[in-house]
Amino acid sequence: MQISSARAVVTGGVSGLGFAVAKRLVENGGKVALFDVNDDKGAAAVTELGDANARYFKTDVTDEASVAANVAAAKAFLGGLNVAVNCAGILGAGRVLGREGAMPLAQFRTTVLVNLVGSFNVAKACAELMQHNEAGDDGERGVIVNTASVAAYEGQIGQAAYSASKGGVVGMTLPMARELARFGIRVMTIAPGVFWTPMVDGMPDNVRTSLEATIPYPARLGKPAEFADLVAYILGNTYLNGETIRLDGATRLAPK
Ligand code: NAD
Repeated sequence: MQISSARAVVTGGVSGLGFAVAKRLVENGGKVALFDVNDDKGAAAVTELGDANARYFKTDVTDEASVAANVAAAKAFLGGLNVAVNCAGILGAGRVLGREGAMPLAQFRTTVLVNLVGSFNVAKACAELMQHNEAGDDGERGVIVNTASVAAYEGQIGQAAYSASKGGVVGMTLPMARELARFGIRVMTIAPGVFWTPMVDGMPDNVRTSLEATIPYPARLGKPAEFADLVAYILGNTYLNGETIRLDGATRLAPK
C-alpha cells in the first residue's frame, strides 16, 4: 500500500508513538482519525496536522459500542478505511506482591483491558469495514498494525500486568493474520524497546542514562520517528504479515 493512500485509524494517536505515526502518514498524503481519551492533546494534534487531514474522535478503546460507532464515523471523514494502527496503551506498573499487599485485581484487569482487549476491539471493528474495500495489488484491502513491547518477552519486576497484556497482543497477531488473510487484510505487530515519549518522560535523568547504557546499539532511547518509519515500511511491504518485529537496538530488559 502507498502511504499516500492510507486512510487510517490511529489509537493513542494524539501522543508519543501514535502521534509520530499520524504525522508521518499526513506528511505523505494520508489521512488520519485519532482515537484517544485526551481531549487537550487531541485538539493540539489536529491543530498541528491540519483539520483537513486529521480529526480527533474521543474514544475509549475498551468501549465496544463507541469504537464501532467512531470507526464508522472515521471512515466517513477519511473517505475510506484501509489502515488501523493500535498505539493506545497504559503501563499499569505494579508488583504482584507489593509493600501494601497484593496487586488489586482491578489494576491487572484494566491494564489487560486497555492494551490487549482494546487492541482487539479496534482491530475487529476496522476489519469489519475493511473487508468491503475494493482490492488493491495482491488483493490487499487493509493493514492492521498493533503495538506490543519487548516486555512481552522479558518483562521486568513490576510488569506482570503489562507483560501479560503485550504478550497477548503478540499471541493474537498470527491467528488474526491467518483469519483475515481471505479478506486481504494483513496484521503485524511492533514490539518497541524503550522510546522517548510522554510515557517515559517522567523518568529521572540518572535512570534514563543508566537505562541507555544497557542498550547495545545505538545506546539511546528510540525516537518516535523511528517507530513511524517501521509502520510506514510495514504498510509498503505487502509480504510482511502475521509477525511481530522487535524495534529495540538489541535491548534485552533486565529483571529490574
Ligand atoms: P503515550 O502515553 O505517549 O501514548 C499513549 C496514548 O494512549 C495516550 O495519548 C493515552 O491518552 C492513550 N490511551 C490510554 N488509554 C486509552 C484508552 N482506554 N482509549 C484510548 N486511548 C487511550 O505512550 P507511548 O509511549 O506513545 O505508547 C504507545 C504504545 O507503545 C503503548 O501501547 C505502549 O505500551 C507502547 N510502548 C511504548 C514504549 C515506550 O518506551 N514509550 C515501549 C514499548 C511499548
